[in-house]
Amino acid sequence: MNTLAERDQAVIWHPFTQMQTAPLPIPIVRGNGSVLYGADGREYLDMVSSWWVNLHGHAHPYIAQRVSEQLNTLEHVIFAGFTHQPAVELAERLLKILPQNQAKVFYSDNGSTAVEVALKMSFQYWHNLGKPRRKVVALENAYHGDTFGAMAVGERNAFTAPFVPFLFDVDYLPTPLTGQETDVLKLAETLFTDDVAAFIIEPLVQGAGGMIMYEPDVLDQLIQLARRNGILIIADEVMTGFGRTGRLFASDYLQQKPDLMCLSKGITGGTMALGVTTCTQAIYDVFLSDNKHKTLFHGHSFTANPLACAAALASMDLLLLPETQSNIQRIAEQHAQFAGRLANWANVSSIRQRGTLLAFDLKVGEQTSYFNSIRDVAYAFLLERGVLMRPLGNTLYLMPPYCTTNEQLLYSYQQVDELVNTIPF
Ligand SMILES: *Cc1c(COP(=O)(O)O)cnc(C)c1O
Repeated sequence: MNTLAERDQAVIWHPFTQMQTAPLPIPIVRGNGSVLYGADGREYLDMVSSWWVNLHGHAHPYIAQRVSEQLNTLEHVIFAGFTHQPAVELAERLLKILPQNQAKVFYSDNGSTAVEVALKMSFQYWHNLGKPRRKVVALENAYHGDTFGAMAVGERNAFTAPFVPFLFDVDYLPTPLTGQETDVLKLAETLFTDDVAAFIIEPLVQGAGGMIMYEPDVLDQLIQLARRNGILIIADEVMTGFGRTGRLFASDYLQQKPDLMCLSKGITGGTMALGVTTCTQAIYDVFLSDNKHKTLFHGHSFTANPLACAAALASMDLLLLPETQSNIQRIAEQHAQFAGRLANWANVSSIRQRGTLLAFDLKVGEQTSYFNSIRDVAYAFLLERGVLMRPLGNTLYLMPPYCTTNEQLLYSYQQVDELVNTIPF
């Protein structure tokens, strides 16, 4: 009998993976808290929250119980013409914790679909008003997902190269990094014209683009500029939502609230796939009409799946516990202390932090692309020591589940220290 990894290799095509050169995948048999257990008995500290989705640890008993109860009651029902308790309750509770101007909740399946829906709402908003607008403004280094609309508003790079001819035109503003705000604002004045339908951003932290961080103040100014021409603001909080940045949402740091918000990843505590797009009453109202052509014709088979909604409700219960909120602050403090120590290394640069997210760059001379082997060396070094981190090129980051203990954090920091210390760059 072949091993599970060999059977996998015979039949499965993995995401973001060059299958010719990829090592055999590591079979995981169970998870508990921040620890993943391998089939060979090895343990891994999940410092990437399993691709940024996990909030409360793996196989959380409370979420498991709530999903299990729902599974025995109603597993799924068509969501056009029908509704159910978990979907209604989740929408009500989301609107209570989101910025106050958010009024309606549209369900879909994942982060990319949440972005697609926000883009379609934006384009159709202008279409329904009889003043079609065709352009979107996004930020350089943006990542909004892997479907076509989401790719179109993301950074054009090696990942999207084969598809560029099929992506709609987008104007890009440089990320408004500290020190570059004035230049970006100046350029924004020229880009925010009255044929721009929407301005889409990952507020404060650009995740996949390299955990690039910028300040709320400049984003507030950009949003104000965009609003002069009525441009809709889409906050893609798929990664930053649900406590990651130290507040419930990155938009909570802003004075200017977005018109549309995209949520996924942590929304179910990382248990199940679920996407949410929310919008203001003003946007919603533009779709109300006796004319059927003004309808938002969008939906997915598993829209508002009751199991996913139940998982999201359970995760929200846990997230709002004082204990969880203090864990988020505790992790932020531990990160800040470690960041202070990291600053002593000559081969570490651009140390940056927002809440439970800590990132820094390894200096590696001129080759700094994603394909740099430093990434593979660092990944293997840390994995060998039982720490799962997944560097973005030469950018290393820690994004632990909120239940991660100080001991587990310290162990991870020590392995990073050793990596920085022992590998000659
Ligand atoms: C991951 C991510 C997405 C895409 O979400 P998927 O569920 O992977 O489709 C979109 N936007 C941001 C900011 C993300 O980090």
